[in-house]
Amino acid sequence: MPDRADRQTAQERLFDWYAKHHRTLPWRDRPTPYGVLVSELMLQQTRVDTVLGYYERWMARWPTLADLAAADLQDVLAQWTGLGYYNRARNLHKTAQLVVRDHGGQLPSDAASLAQLPGLGPYTLGAVRSIAFGEPAALVDGNVSRVFSRWHAQPGQPQPRWLWQTAQDWLALPTAQRDPGTWNQALMELGATVCTPRKPACAACPVQPHCLVFAQDLQEAIPPARVRAAPKQVTAAYAIVAREGRILLGRRPAKGRWAGLWEPPGLEGAAAGVQLGRWLLSQGLQADRALPALVHVLTHRRYEVESLVVVVPPGHEPDLQPLGYVEQRWQVADDAQSQTSGLSRLGQRLCEQAGEAGEIA
Ligand code: SF4
Repeated sequence: MPDRADRQTAQERLFDWYAKHHRTLPWRDRPTPYGVLVSELMLQQTRVDTVLGYYERWMARWPTLADLAAADLQDVLAQWTGLGYYNRARNLHKTAQLVVRDHGGQLPSDAASLAQLPGLGPYTLGAVRSIAFGEPAALVDGNVSRVFSRWHAQPGQPQPRWLWQTAQDWLALPTAQRDPGTWNQALMELGATVCTPRKPACAACPVQPHCLVFAQDLQEAIPPARVRAAPKQVTAAYAIVAREGRILLGRRPAKGRWAGLWEPPGLEGAAAGVQLGRWLLSQGLQADRALPALVHVLTHRRYEVESLVVVVPPGHEPDLQPLGYVEQRWQVADDAQSQTSGLSRLGQRLCEQAGEAGEIA
């Protein structure tokens, strides 16, 4: 797409296409800075279909940044359960508190103030500034990266410097300057729904007459597929400690994986089963039976989890401190399986498995 006139025509085509074909999503109807921030953070690493329900529940519970700032972090983490990458929830909560403290509860629009807030990287800054405030701020995410690589037939993996410069160049054209937020959303929408990683729908693409990879029939080769490292295999062992229809849960420390979330007591590592057995003995307990091994897959880790059922007599109170938990509680079995219980997703699955096996009724 070498010359400026050609780019301008391509841009206008994409605007027209977006006006007619974009998906209706709750954060796009009259976008607010807070709504854009919440949706963009939820959408990182998570599919739109999954985010829809989470977004609506979140906004119903905390309609403003001030509401979120006043919320208990445990409730915030519980509401996030299932989305993963819990630092996003912590950062959102912290951001709300800082915005209330320093900006009267209104998200600032300038890049310097936004950059002071925790967890807002260049992409999120660009999204909030352009979509919520109409500022001429570029953004690059996976969809935009793929679209630019193909339009320009950029060989190899596109480099960040090239991508951001290309995003700036396109944004500098007159049509995008008039509505930067719509331009950025149109790029992302094209990448999400038409210019997909495999088998892009070039026949339905508004930019096809201008697209260099289409002209060269290289859509499947550019950008080249990334070779993903195989997930790390992790062995873990957990104990479903049940007492009178309740399950013993421990809260993980404030740092590390699943920080601050609840789960049945457990350990990970090659010797996890042996160590868990030792802890049970130290508490005067022993496993009643084992449940079938459970596999739990995260982006970079694959957990193989052994879980043991331990039924303890009324009044018996095992101590979870030696396992590294900072707090403990007995939770009604059905509640432990609910989405707002504050358990990690693995913790929920373990409770579900025990419930289905009739171990904690
Ligand atoms: S023509 Fe095909 S490869 Fe080019 S931008 Fe459109 S969908 Fe993507």
